[in-house]
Amino acid sequence: TGTLYVVSTPIGNLGDLSPRAREVLSEVQIIACEDTRVTGSLLAHVGIERPKLVSYRNENETVRAQELVEDLLTGQTVAVVSDAGTPTISDPGFRLVRACQKAGIPISVVPGPCAIVAAIAASGLPSDRFYFCGFLPPKSAARRRFLEEHLDFPSTLVVYESVHRIEKFLDEIVDVLGEERILSVSRELTKKFETTATGRAADVRQSVLSRARKGEFVVLIAPKTFDL
Ligand code: SAM
Repeated sequence: TGTLYVVSTPIGNLGDLSPRAREVLSEVQIIACEDTRVTGSLLAHVGIERPKLVSYRNENETVRAQELVEDLLTGQTVAVVSDAGTPTISDPGFRLVRACQKAGIPISVVPGPCAIVAAIAASGLPSDRFYFCGFLPPKSAARRRFLEEHLDFPSTLVVYESVHRIEKFLDEIVDVLGEERILSVSRELTKKFETTATGRAADVRQSVLSRARKGEFVVLIAPKTFDL
């Protein structure tokens, strides 16, 4: 039986691919990835040529997981990666890990970049406990309800957000949690235009809106009792 390696890849800066990740990716027989172009160019960058890439994405996760389990049972080794960061974290991977567990296939993790951890570390917000909320629902009413329900939540909340909704989401936070709530918004972590703004919700909102409308964001909301 082969081993499934769950491998983290960079969230922007290609220098963050670990030596062990490179070694595993160069040795496995199959690399399951979301977008073969994205992973192909990462591998080319680190000099890994002609890897066997198979597409494993939200749309084909269940079927592909079974096929990969069969490959593993015949003794092939497989690495699963996503477009960026750690597989299974708001990305495919969970179903494959579960299918391998059920089939008795060994699983080994090659940890590395993850936007949650990077944003927490850069934020200056309480990091002893936090709650990762993933992507909130797209509808404004559902997001407002989530904020209302977590108004007094005692730990830092961590939310992934896309460029399309960041502006609206910051408006909702100011509306529901108030201008004084302490936030931290990280944008483009590890990339050329990386920024982290920490402060009152009203100020962080202003600072995010004052820059170009692009990038990837992690929004952290401090507990109500926290002040800078
Ligand atoms: N698996 C990834 C991880 O380990 O962080 C997350 C994938 S999820 C589809 C993409 C979201 O992660 C983005 O919308 C953003 O919220 C966050 N993200 C990923 N890279 C980031 C970066 N360089 N800076 C800020 N946020 C990032």
